[in-house]
Parts: sequence; C-alpha cells; structure tokens
Amino acid sequence: MYVASDAPDELRTAVAHGGVLGCVSVAREAGLWVLPNDEQVHVALPPHGHAFPHVGCTCVSHWGEADVSAGRVCLVDALTQLLLCIGEDAFFAALESALRLRRLSRTDLSRLRSRIAESRSWLVDLASAESESGLESLMKVRLHRLGITLTAQVEIVGVGRVDFVLGDRLIIEVDGRPGHEGAESRHKDRVRDAVAAGLGFDTLRFDYALVVYDWPAVEAAILEKCRRGLHIDSWAESIRTAG
Ligand SMILES: [Zn+2]
Ligand SMILES: [Zn+2]
Repeated sequence: MYVASDAPDELRTAVAHGGVLGCVSVAREAGLWVLPNDEQVHVALPPHGHAFPHVGCTCVSHWGEADVSAGRVCLVDALTQLLLCIGEDAFFAALESALRLRRLSRTDLSRLRSRIAESRSWLVDLASAESESGLESLMKVRLHRLGITLTAQVEIVGVGRVDFVLGDRLIIEVDGRPGHEGAESRHKDRVRDAVAAGLGFDTLRFDYALVVYDWPAVEAAILEKCRRGLHIDSWAESIRTAG
C-alpha cells in the first residue's frame, strides 16, 4: 500500500509491517478514551500475513479478517481486537467513549455484539452514552461485576450533579485526568462534599491514579461502606420497611 509522506507515524509503521492500523491505534486515533496510555502501535495483518522481524520495534500484531479502508480497520473490528488484546475493562471504556462521541450506529453495535464471545456480550448491553469519562466507565463495569448497580449523573439539589450515587446516600466521584487538579477545583469539591454531608450523603472521591493503578484500594473502600450499610439511608429504610 502507498502511504503519503505526511501520513501519521502510526499509519506509516503499520504499513511498513505489511498491515494497517488496528485495535488500540484505531480507537486512539478516533479520539476514544483508551487504556493503556502509551504509544505502542497496534498493527492489523491479514490472516496469513507475513510476520516481520520487529528489530527494535514495540508494535503489537493482530492477525485476522477485518473490514479495512484508508489504512485502518473499521471501529467495530478495532474494538473487537481491543477486547482480546487489552481486556474487558479497557474495551468497555473505549466502547462507552465511542457511544458518547456517536461513533457507532445501532447496526455497528449489533455487529460488535455478534463478533465477541457470548460470555462477554453483557459488556455491550451495559454500555451507554452517559459516562463522561473513561474513569466513570471503569467504575461502572467493575462495580457491576461485584453485583453493585450505580445510578449515574445524579442531580442533587444544593450539591449539583454528581458522577454516581450508590444506594440512597453514597456519592462516588471520579475526578478527571492526571495532574489537572487545581486549588480552585479542589476547594469547589470540598464545598460540594460539605453540602452533601449536611444533606446526609457520604462522598468517596477517587482520581485517575487510584482507579487505573490501585483499583483494590478503591474496591475495598466502596465495599466497606456497603458492608457497614453506610450507603443505605436507615431512616428512609425504616419508613420503607414500616410501609
Ligand atoms: Zn513491529
Ligand atoms: Zn491490540
């Protein structure tokens, strides 16, 4: 395949391998939220494509049939590759990001569902366009696996919109990108937490580093709150029980 000299480096690398862009590289190029946050090029090769010697190369190769145009596999094929390559959580985050950016049609979604293993189709069913960041997607899919359902993007009078509410009164917030937390936004968060506490809510707040690199700490914090029943409003609960 001919590549223009001003083509993106990733595409040139893929073509130099005798393939096209695939997997994470296509998702990243489409502006989706993608883990891992690195520079590796994922190359899609035909089923019996020649394996290159990869001297000094850190690429990741994928062999198989795919819909290819303009030097890339289509987004459905890229997501299918990503699921097998990186795993369920990264797939889910990229998928929700694609839905949010309206990059997938209904037909695309059902094609995607038919491409992946039946045991993993729940990931497609759980995905929606409402998550505002990959961190929210990771939170949602990982708690779903633990049998915990979250209500997302909840408007609380006096507090504003929070990322998630678990049960009646546990607010879970996941804060943005690494290194983007200024003093002003920290103060705003403290105010929100104080107002929420005054209304009987508990707030757990996690950042990128915690969700991505230290999930066990996040999970332990949430599960302990649940175990102690701190997410249930006991007053509301007693009324429900009495009723
Ligand atoms: Zn290589
Ligand atoms: Zn890959």
